[in-house]
Amino acid sequence: MQHPVRVVSGMRPTGALHLGHFHGVLQSWLRLQGEHDCYFFVADWHALTDQVQPVAETAIYDMVVDWLAAGIDPQRTTLFIQSRMPEHAELFTLLAMHTPLSWLERVPGFKEVAERHPSFGRLGYPLLQAADILAYKATHVPVGQDQSAHLELCREVARRLNQVVGAALFPEPAAVFSPTPRLSGLDGRKMSKSAGNAIGMREAPQEVRKKVVRMPTDPRRVHRGDVGEPERCPVWALHQVSTPSAEFAPLASGCRSAAIGCVDCKQVLLDHLLPQQAEWRARAVQHMAEPKQVHWLVEVGTERARVMARKTLRDVREGLGLKV
Ligand code: SF4
Repeated sequence: MQHPVRVVSGMRPTGALHLGHFHGVLQSWLRLQGEHDCYFFVADWHALTDQVQPVAETAIYDMVVDWLAAGIDPQRTTLFIQSRMPEHAELFTLLAMHTPLSWLERVPGFKEVAERHPSFGRLGYPLLQAADILAYKATHVPVGQDQSAHLELCREVARRLNQVVGAALFPEPAAVFSPTPRLSGLDGRKMSKSAGNAIGMREAPQEVRKKVVRMPTDPRRVHRGDVGEPERCPVWALHQVSTPSAEFAPLASGCRSAAIGCVDCKQVLLDHLLPQQAEWRARAVQHMAEPKQVHWLVEVGTERARVMARKTLRDVREGLGLKV
């Protein structure tokens, strides 16, 4: 059976997003929403697999505001909240019946998780991810390289259920990799809120300027005449995602010959980064002024997603001989 192209992707509710989220995930979403039928969701059940405190509503809606600020269009995509879809939980249960434990044990990191957070929910969350994806019969899933094992599990689970019901109920979804899976932060390590090395998507310009000015550079560039190597500098990683590529060659050769100083190089970065953030901020301000409208957009998306998930569940129940 030929399944229509459909993309499903979720993000845990982390509150306001940073540049790593934008370049690692949202940029792929923006490209995909222009080409395919997309379902993007707030993975709030997944958040509970790692945290003991309840999920804050502000963490959900601050994140959704940043999706909208980045240009995610609820007219073209379906935005919804995972925990509002009991169909995912039902599908998880039905898939679990046909998923050998050994498949989950093969997922990288299973042993450490079993030692550190041995809750059933945490150990089984790759299967919940499979349910999130298969509830919409997704054909494509944006993933980081570190999640390809999870998608492989999803493909195996889909194949197994298709065999059990004797029909091609589910497609085996393909991975869509991000061109910037890992953006480095202010200190050169992976950008993350917890590492304290992030620049928020809509952080105030004066704060962004301060952060960029303080960023370390190639340690060999101590004095203005010292030559450097862009690849050894965390500022260069931000240029790669913010500065037009036509400017890379003169900047790189200026760094290698000491023709430009780090202050000038950082100013070029700010000249491109700040206007992009100003656009996000302007859109976010509009959405934050109308919180009811944002809730309504998510509400409409959730109901649209429910229609699709219910249809899938009817097919699965019927295939498994359960009363429909
Ligand atoms: S010139 Fe630019 S790339 Fe080179 S070390 Fe300085 S800030 Fe980094």
